[in-house]
Amino acid sequence: MSERDVARDARRDELAERLAAVRARLAAAARAAGRPPSDVVLLPVTKFFPASDVVLLYELGCRAFGESREQEASAKIAEFRESVADPVQWHMIGRLQRNKARAVARWAHTVHSVDSAKLTRALATGVRAAYDAQERSDPVRVLLQVSLDGDTQRGGVLAAELPLLAAEVAGAEELELGGLMGVPPLGWEPDRAFEQLAALHERLREEHPEASELSAGMSGDLEHAVRWGSTCVRVGTAVMGSRPLA
Ligand SMILES: *Cc1c(COP(=O)(O)O)cnc(C)c1O
Repeated sequence: MSERDVARDARRDELAERLAAVRARLAAAARAAGRPPSDVVLLPVTKFFPASDVVLLYELGCRAFGESREQEASAKIAEFRESVADPVQWHMIGRLQRNKARAVARWAHTVHSVDSAKLTRALATGVRAAYDAQERSDPVRVLLQVSLDGDTQRGGVLAAELPLLAAEVAGAEELELGGLMGVPPLGWEPDRAFEQLAALHERLREEHPEASELSAGMSGDLEHAVRWGSTCVRVGTAVMGSRPLA
């Protein structure tokens, strides 16, 4: 075996071990919450890590991946496709600037971070352009990111503005309203944050029953998120290890 194959095997073993550990944590959290483990999807977050790692995760059974920066994602997806022909889902989980909406519409199955009407319209326009260029044939699934502490500088729409934004997304043919996303504000107890998020999600679903996804929980707080109804945990560090040096 070449040195490269040895390194690849070692990395595959490491990822397999980490994945199994995270899946075990998720299953235990679901059990503790009285929920079936199949209720919660694990979305590995591959930002900062190379396409070769995504290929290994694919070989280990993963079919959806989270990325947080458009340029990094586009380059990684192109490289990934040289190794894997099967379609997989790419999720945009990071803050999205309007001028990147067109590019994201080329590759995103789901955008977790929609937080304004302007971004909604830019994304819808981007999807239409992607239809015209035959780069995609189905709507982008949109999760609304809500700001729990009202500090919208860090991303997220104010809770009071959620209903209007939900109506805007639901009314756009190029978008599909999938649910809600939230991140605990700095310094908050995770349970306090996820409890509020769950209440907002319940209210959203009264008006939009189809918005069933609740994207909540990361490496450090996924147990708390599962307790409060998360259906999708976005896990970077616990699956991938600490960030590689640039
Ligand atoms: C990076 C990132 C994650 C993953 O965070 P970890 O703590 O590494 O699991 C989840 N959600 C968002 C929005 C992120 O940017």
